[in-house]
Amino acid sequence: MTEPFLVVSGLDAFYGAAQILFSVGFELAPGEVVALMGRNGAGKTTTLESIMGLVARRTGSIVFRGRELVRLRPYEIARLGLGFVPEDRRIFTDLTVLENLEVGRRRPMQSSETASEPWTPERLFQLFPNLAEARNRSAGRMSGGEQQMLTIARTLMGNPLAILLDEPSEGIAPIIVDQMIGMIAELKRSGVAILVSEQNLPFAAAVADRAYILEHGQIKFTDDIRSLIQNEEARRAYLEL
Ligand code: ATP
Repeated sequence: MTEPFLVVSGLDAFYGAAQILFSVGFELAPGEVVALMGRNGAGKTTTLESIMGLVARRTGSIVFRGRELVRLRPYEIARLGLGFVPEDRRIFTDLTVLENLEVGRRRPMQSSETASEPWTPERLFQLFPNLAEARNRSAGRMSGGEQQMLTIARTLMGNPLAILLDEPSEGIAPIIVDQMIGMIAELKRSGVAILVSEQNLPFAAAVADRAYILEHGQIKFTDDIRSLIQNEEARRAYLEL
């Protein structure tokens, strides 16, 4: 692994009096794709939201490129180059696909710091051909999977160095899942690091280098994805229903 640029350690997160995460720790290296796995309610979404500063309270340490995030606000965290794609698609249904992308446009922080050349709608349309076809269509008329793609594309318009994707394959048609796999591979090639929360092992296996498995808010297992596929005991214990 190259030098880690996102290092989470001793992370606890709370909703009101309820503690949801217990000393969670993991790393993401530049250009790496890491899957955060676990069953429903294991704490995957809470982990991503904790990194972005979107939970009620979190303690511990989240260091991104040498900066401690744990006391920063969500907009400050986003400005440091972290993009978040929540599970529910947050598009503007009355705007066209192209207008949705324009809304997400942010100037790159410093050209020397971005993962690659700045994202433009044209560059994104190469990555997402079905968005290109629909560019002048109202976003509200697209399928759920296409809306998910648009949410990811709009996040990329902010030129993040890393993106956090929350269960991108959840509830979308198999053909879009295949496109999503291709898109993540392409993004990886462009230098963006990706932390993807996922329950679906075939999807994680198709995109990720390594996996961490959460159960009841704790990291219970970590390995490279190929070993996890072969590790029936770990799969049964932490992933299968
Ligand atoms: P899923 O696949 O169902 O989204 P997950 O692994 O992402 O699962 P989380 O959504 O992080 O899990 O939920 C972890 C725990 O936190 C669950 O027990 C859930 O009920 C609880 N939880 C999540 N959001 C809140 C909230 N806003 N208030 C209180 N408890 C919450």
